[in-house]
Amino acid sequence: MDILIDLDNILVDTYKIWLKAYNLFYLPKGAEEVKIEDLTNFEMDKNKNVNGNIWKIIDSDGFFKDLPEIEGGVWAVEKLQKAGHNVIICSSPSKNIGSWTDKIYWIQNHLKIMSNKNIILTGSKQLVMADILIDDSPKNAYNWRKKNPKGIVAQINWPYNLNSVAQIKADSWEDTKSAWQTILGKIL
Ligand SMILES: [Mg+2]
Repeated sequence: MDILIDLDNILVDTYKIWLKAYNLFYLPKGAEEVKIEDLTNFEMDKNKNVNGNIWKIIDSDGFFKDLPEIEGGVWAVEKLQKAGHNVIICSSPSKNIGSWTDKIYWIQNHLKIMSNKNIILTGSKQLVMADILIDDSPKNAYNWRKKNPKGIVAQINWPYNLNSVAQIKADSWEDTKSAWQTILGKIL
């Protein structure tokens, strides 16, 4: 099968670092620190105590380059590859043009996917056909299923995607290794 796999919050531990930086530099005075549990809206700046400055962080040079792996993610990619599936990394870059190279850098550093046949960077994932999309964004799940009605969307559960249209919902961001095991259990 062709399996599209997202980076941020699926293979890369993006939100924890992103929030840490936000709380440090941009949290409004007197506001309580924002935690992952508070992120009930996928649009980051629509969550309580989060303002538009949060975009400055991911739009800064080098942000994506050195982010840590999510536990279980790289392990899962290798399992899928070993089982003969065609794994394609499908990720949306940010507005900053440097994020394109930062993301490629991350992929080359962490995954045994060195071929350009296995990397798609796009803000329009719904236009990419495949059997399965593994992605945390409720918007991507909706748009992709609309264009790929026979396709399956799988997600790791985060506070902002519990109501998404993904068919496979795996608990959870608090134990991503176990979430990945759940997803593999349904696919393999
Ligand atoms: Mg993501």
